[in-house]
Amino acid sequence: MHNKSLSELASDLKSSAYSSVELTQYFLDRIHQHQPSLNAFITIMDEQALAMAKVADEQIATGSAGALTGIPMAHKDIFCTDGVRTSAGSKMLDNFIAPYNATVVEKLNAAGMPILGKTNMDEFAMGSSNENSFYGRVKNPWDLERVPGGSSGGSATAVAARLAPVATGTDTGGSIRQPASLTGITGIKPTYGRVSRFGMIAYASSLDQGGVFGTSATDCALVLEAMSGFDEKDSTSSEQAVGDFSATLNNSLQGLKIGLPKEYFKEGLDSGVAKVIDEAIAEYKKMGAEIIEISLPNSHLAIPAYYVIAPAECSSNLSRLDGVRYGYRCENPENLQDHYMRSRGEAFGNEVKRRIMVGTYALSAGYYDAYYLKAQKIRRLISEDFKQAFEKVDVIMGPVAPNTAFKIGEKSDDPISMYLSDIYTIAVNLAGLPGMSIPAGQADNLPVGLQLIGNYFDEAKMLNIAHQYQQVTNHHQQMPTAFESTASNKGEA
Ligand code: GLN
Repeated sequence: MHNKSLSELASDLKSSAYSSVELTQYFLDRIHQHQPSLNAFITIMDEQALAMAKVADEQIATGSAGALTGIPMAHKDIFCTDGVRTSAGSKMLDNFIAPYNATVVEKLNAAGMPILGKTNMDEFAMGSSNENSFYGRVKNPWDLERVPGGSSGGSATAVAARLAPVATGTDTGGSIRQPASLTGITGIKPTYGRVSRFGMIAYASSLDQGGVFGTSATDCALVLEAMSGFDEKDSTSSEQAVGDFSATLNNSLQGLKIGLPKEYFKEGLDSGVAKVIDEAIAEYKKMGAEIIEISLPNSHLAIPAYYVIAPAECSSNLSRLDGVRYGYRCENPENLQDHYMRSRGEAFGNEVKRRIMVGTYALSAGYYDAYYLKAQKIRRLISEDFKQAFEKVDVIMGPVAPNTAFKIGEKSDDPISMYLSDIYTIAVNLAGLPGMSIPAGQADNLPVGLQLIGNYFDEAKMLNIAHQYQQVTNHHQQMPTAFESTASNKGEA
């Protein structure tokens, strides 16, 4: 069951091959079986999942089911879930039971998708390896000594090991695309504003965007459509109509203009990764696409600009976490100052503290112009680069990350080298564009993702481009062998 597409699962449910309760139990069993080795989940929601599945079964029986009714999924633990702990991977929110649902959760609940659980993540979505979680590291199912990428590494691992058919994620600088690439699955971060941020715990509000992981573009299309749309509770959400992402998946790619940014193929890119990307581009040529070299001249400024803007915004967003209204509170504070300092000091991890300090510094009087304002100007230049590129091409392609999954611990003491993991993804967030990662092959037996960058609100086109590739290749169907069967490897993998 774990290798079926969402539409196969839906038709099996409709024909009563199994019930949603059985399907949900099946995935819950897989989650429990592999939790000790992968640590992909922070909270496993057995009871709620089965209760939701029961309701879905009733809807299926009365003929009121939609395309996703009864298919279970997982949510990144950054999306608020009513009555369920929502930790954002932090000790600060370990005791936080969300009193409402994020809009994304609300919409997917309404679509009838039982929630299997909340997935592990880097604390407040800060990281590229999932080594920054209060709940421990997440392992990459392709090699348990390696990271799955971050910050949505729990969701990516859950889908890659087929513990959930699909899962939500968020992407502020690459946190959907990079873990999708490192775990060999499909992930899409839509245009900024396409998906509501209401109830999604804020990291850097002008960059954060929710999206989805699946094993194929078709599956992502179905779920993304269900979670997208204007939300009056998020003033930055777009009023642009959502459209039918599945309707154009089979459009021909004849004459498609693909831009390859020369800056994305320079030194720093692993040769094995480069080879996989070249082969993927060759495949697109065979499908009738035209390849055009483009330039994104300011892309080298993306990481420095991001590491001013994102910390500045997070220092402001996280200031609400002071132990007064909710979240962690230190014991026996001497006075208010001590209360603030110890509550925050004891509950935030090192990476979060580093960013709060950088952000507070960048926003201080006297430094604002030199850092934050300058970074915002660079952001504008980066958006202009993309704008010019999209006058010539329909889509931009390149690597997602410079390397395949790295070893646990390899970069944890070197923040700069960790930050460089997102060198090809961050500019997309600064510009607010949609980006996607699709499995394109392997280098040294580890998955490599191809990145697709689309113009604003071109999600349907990107999913079409991804789907056509998945029609002529089978990289997206590869899964780590240790997780293939359910019964025989109990407790091992
Ligand atoms: N790795 C980047 C960071 O640490 C991006 C994270 C993200 O997209 N949430 O900020």
